Amino acid sequence: MPLIKTVQDWCSEHPVIAELVALNETTWFNPNTAAVAEALADVPLTRADMDDASARLQRFAAFIQSAFPQTREAGGIIESPLYPLPALQRALGTSPGQLWLKADNELPISGSIKARGGIYEVLVHAERLALDAGLLQPGDDYAQLDSDTARAFFARYRIAVGSTGNLGLSIGIISARLGFQATVHMSADARQWKKDKLRAHGVQVIEYPTDYSVAVAEGRRQAEGDPFCHFVDDENSRQLFLGYAVAALRLQGQLRQAGIVVDAEHPLFVYLPCGVGGGPGGVAFGLKQVFGDAVHCLFAEPTHSPCMLLGVCTGLHDQVSVYDFGIDNATAADGLAVGRPSGFVGRTMQRLIDGHYTVSDDNLHRLLALMEASEGLRLEPSALAGVPGMQRVLEETQGYRQRLGLSERHMANATHLIWATGGSMVPEAEMEAYLATGRALLNAR
Ligand SMILES: *Cc1c(COP(=O)(O)O)cnc(C)c1O
Repeated sequence: MPLIKTVQDWCSEHPVIAELVALNETTWFNPNTAAVAEALADVPLTRADMDDASARLQRFAAFIQSAFPQTREAGGIIESPLYPLPALQRALGTSPGQLWLKADNELPISGSIKARGGIYEVLVHAERLALDAGLLQPGDDYAQLDSDTARAFFARYRIAVGSTGNLGLSIGIISARLGFQATVHMSADARQWKKDKLRAHGVQVIEYPTDYSVAVAEGRRQAEGDPFCHFVDDENSRQLFLGYAVAALRLQGQLRQAGIVVDAEHPLFVYLPCGVGGGPGGVAFGLKQVFGDAVHCLFAEPTHSPCMLLGVCTGLHDQVSVYDFGIDNATAADGLAVGRPSGFVGRTMQRLIDGHYTVSDDNLHRLLALMEASEGLRLEPSALAGVPGMQRVLEETQGYRQRLGLSERHMANATHLIWATGGSMVPEAEMEAYLATGRALLNAR
């Protein structure tokens, strides 16, 4: 893709792009945000679509509960806990405000945020096929989908997806459990244990020596010629997006239960690790539907893979990749190792996201070790990207808080929520290696 301007021109016009190209950690507050009532008109999805997704997950709860016994206690609803982080907040020394964590690392079935969108999209597809074929009638108990009859039916169909790892894990596990033939196209960043786990579930794993975009494109190409194959399009899917959005409805109940008020006087800041953008975009869309202008969402990316920030700053979205700017997309945060952002998310959410920032791999590792030492929580590197957000907001001097009328009083009342996107399935030896790297970096300071 020709950039129209040279990298040098972009850098002199947008100082933040110069910081990205230099691989420096940087924060950019979006000058183009608009009131939620106005900006939501950019998104071709509504509150009714979100409620429909929530109702579908409710219908499938009986199947999930039957197929995945670890979800029995929660009645087949795939949800994660909300934790306060007093010890981490003390260790970081960030105040005022309260620091909390949304523990999607503990989501059942696949241990990452992808257990929201990825599983949801496969359920949408399965429901449509089953209803069309008369295998299922409206109002039926969906537990009957956990049967040999249903599996024999779904075995005629294929599901394919391109992934850096976690999406493949979610799609592969749920697809195989329903009986579908599943194929996961894995990028070079994908961890070996994720491929091994999928193969153990009977999923076909195709490995690429290249990055995520190539794995997606190849998966899409192979699926196109096959009418029995559904391709889960991480870069454009509305269903994935809605599956993520339902998180906001669940969070609303959890915050209420924890006695946390979110309104104009008590703002909520949410820090979301961003890869291609579907996960954070869908969650942010849901949060804006639920909390309106009282919620402020920031996206976090690795310094080596700042694709969404580049896409939004240049206005070129999916027409630009980090490689065009000489950035290598090499990061230990495998869930975020994406060089080209979703055009759908970038375009529709560009007036709804308060800001974007980048974090170095070294700091992700340091925070990984600090999170473990202070709170006893073990997260994968991608999932730490939300941690520096609170400090970035409190220390900003770009006029962001002033423009939004966020005074010291508001900041004293604020809740800051780190979205911890993955980690519970990481094998022990791998986690110990992450921790060792992080501890060494902390001690070297
Ligand atoms: C996929 C993923 C993300 C980001 O989601 P996108 O939809 O790619 O933006 C963040 N953290 C982890 C652990 C992930 O697997």
